[in-house]
Amino acid sequence: MYPFHWVPAAGQRHASTDRRPEGALAYPSGTSVTTLCREQVIADNSEIGWLWPTCDSCNTEAHRIARELPTTSTGRSI
Ligand SMILES: [Zn+2]
Repeated sequence: MYPFHWVPAAGQRHASTDRRPEGALAYPSGTSVTTLCREQVIADNSEIGWLWPTCDSCNTEAHRIARELPTTSTGRSI
């Protein structure tokens, strides 16, 4: 499990390391989250939101985080 989650907001799919509400699979619409590209955005968990293009900065940062995860914790190399 990666320590970040994708969140549609402001016309793009961003990623955030903010905690999600207990039991939630996504940030509910209206949730204020801090993204990996260091923006403060309001989550828009609508169906159309997940079709928005991926934020380049968040994508780059998400890949960096994934690469830096210790491979022993997942039991496989990336
Ligand atoms: Zn972003």
